[in-house]
Amino acid sequence: MEDAVIAGAGPIGLACAVSAKRRGLDALLLDGGVLVNSITRYPIGMTFFTTPERMEIGGHPLVCAGQKPTREEGLKYYRGVARVEGVRFRAHTRLVAAERRNGALECLLAGRTGEERIVTRRLVLATGYFDHPNLLGVPGEDLPHVSHYFDEPHGGYGLDVVVVGGRNSAVEAALELFRAGARVTLVYRGKALPPSIKYWVKPDIENRIKAGEIAARFGATVERIDERAVTIRAGRRSEELPADRVYALTGYHPDFELFRRLGIALEPDTLRARLDPETLETNVSGIHMAGSISSGRAISEIFIENGRFDGEKIFSSQLPSSTAQ
Ligand SMILES: Cc1cc2nc3c(=O)[nH]c(=O)nc-3n(C[C@H](O)[C@H](O)[C@H](O)COP(=O)(O)OP(=O)(O)OC[C@H]3O[C@@H](n4cnc5c(N)ncnc54)[C@H](O)[C@@H]3O)c2cc1C
Repeated sequence: MEDAVIAGAGPIGLACAVSAKRRGLDALLLDGGVLVNSITRYPIGMTFFTTPERMEIGGHPLVCAGQKPTREEGLKYYRGVARVEGVRFRAHTRLVAAERRNGALECLLAGRTGEERIVTRRLVLATGYFDHPNLLGVPGEDLPHVSHYFDEPHGGYGLDVVVVGGRNSAVEAALELFRAGARVTLVYRGKALPPSIKYWVKPDIENRIKAGEIAARFGATVERIDERAVTIRAGRRSEELPADRVYALTGYHPDFELFRRLGIALEPDTLRARLDPETLETNVSGIHMAGSISSGRAISEIFIENGRFDGEKIFSSQLPSSTAQ
């Protein structure tokens, strides 16, 4: 019987494991990928928008060379926290299902060597959203030159690249690709760039578009993707854009299917789970939610800065009476 299992070893899952430790609970932290797997998928060389002290967990100082940490400094920091806290961590182990049995929670896990069942008093879901891109749902989206993750710009040199999306990740990818020598077209369904674009990025993209250095198609949706082209539609007008590489950066969503399998009630419009505000417990006794998954579809509401104390709420609460010993 585990005291607590934390599914998802992002910054918030890791912070939850530290909160559990501070209360004498040796929680098992597991991740379908590696430690802070989502950060490993950030673009190489990326800098966080958050200042270091707002990314710190467990009171450990995050020291970085510049004003804000890079992806590499973030990875090093969270690795260091896991090591000095002695967090019990298992990589490549995915939570598939969980159900209440005999007053405890039985979890089904899938790892590299097959499936396994473990029993726990408390389960914390901190599985983020980064594994589930919002698909365009068009033919050709699964072609090998199409990606829902922007990795690095160098590979775009000398190529026609179409970036789909108009939010920060799409705009930043378009700018980096342009500066690495790609011929970039940004395709966005909105009539103009949204106000949520970071204030220091907005003038840069607007000026590149004005100067004709980055092509942009607003009010346009993708109809299909072929080996060398993306077909878009804006009103009645259809256009074929040359594309050696396509980045569909149209956001992500939590694993709502997993929540449904666990019996977690979601609000119909927002797909937000109904959580006890004090303990972040779901309607399923003993199952809590932490971090970015807690805000349903509105994934930009909770991030590292404001999710990192969720473990404190969860582990300072009493165990449900059915599982307490
Ligand atoms: C490019 C980029 C830059 C960003 N910059 C910042 C920033 O500067 N400041 C900031 O505060 N936020 C930033 N964010 C947002 C931030 O990354 C997320 O808010 C943060 O990672 C959320 O943490 P989390 O622990 O809730 O989820 P995640 O970090 O997404 O972690 C979830 C983990 O769960 C694992 N997982 C998923 N499903 C399962 C399963 N079934 N079983 C087991 N494990 C599973 C995943 O592999 C992952 O490691 C940025 C995001 C991106 C994409």
